[in-house]
Amino acid sequence: MQQGEATEIISAFLGKVAAAPSSVLLLDYDGTLAPFQIERDQAYPYPGILPLLQAIQSNGRTSLIVITGRPIHEVQNLLSPLTGIEIWGAHGLDHLLADGTRQKVDIAPQLSAALTQAEQFLHSHGMHSMTEVKPGGVAVHWRGLPDHQIESIRSQTLEGWSSLLQQEGLKLLQFEGGLELRVTRPDKGDAIATILEGLQSDTPVAFLGDDLTDEDGFRRLAHRGLSVLVRNEYRETAAQAWIRPPLELIAFLERWLQQINGA
Ligand SMILES: [Mg+2]
Repeated sequence: MQQGEATEIISAFLGKVAAAPSSVLLLDYDGTLAPFQIERDQAYPYPGILPLLQAIQSNGRTSLIVITGRPIHEVQNLLSPLTGIEIWGAHGLDHLLADGTRQKVDIAPQLSAALTQAEQFLHSHGMHSMTEVKPGGVAVHWRGLPDHQIESIRSQTLEGWSSLLQQEGLKLLQFEGGLELRVTRPDKGDAIATILEGLQSDTPVAFLGDDLTDEDGFRRLAHRGLSVLVRNEYRETAAQAWIRPPLELIAFLERWLQQINGA
């Protein structure tokens, strides 16, 4: 992807945002709005991001929607004092609407049982402190550990989970800093598909993400909206544009705000 090409795609899209009465900005959280932290509860947004999101929200023309693998309450805490924002948590299993209404998707009992087994494996192999249990998934986190230890955790976990991975309805996610066994659906693409169903076909919509799980969302927006990979290093992606956090992200949000403010 050429940087000049990305700039043109973004400029053309922001022109549509300026002209439209309403628009939608979909945002991944970790790695996109916030830098990765070893202490996951300390992963606050990059400096400068929250005031921009607040300004965009209070303008009223753009709906901000966060789509994350995290449980909803964690993102609410990390985005505080920003409130009244729509959040899709646990990759779309849990949905908090802007008015505070909550909708959850149930998981099949056999998948819940398999996830409990995945968790028990980690606990019985000394990985208790690295384990995270979330709606629809079990993750092992190794950010900050030395390479040889990461390799050992990865291979042990893959072996321990191998029989569970055969089960239909479960998938392995390899994310920045760990592995997760989780339900195949919904994924972020499903969450975005549901959001798109509720929009008029000409409402401008953009999605910013960094991780492999965001690729489902990027693909879902093909021919429909702007997809942006937010990442320091480029990688193969279905996104139409690539920007580096935090400076190019801040510049993007500032431009968005200018468009809806009519500046
Ligand atoms: Mg992310």
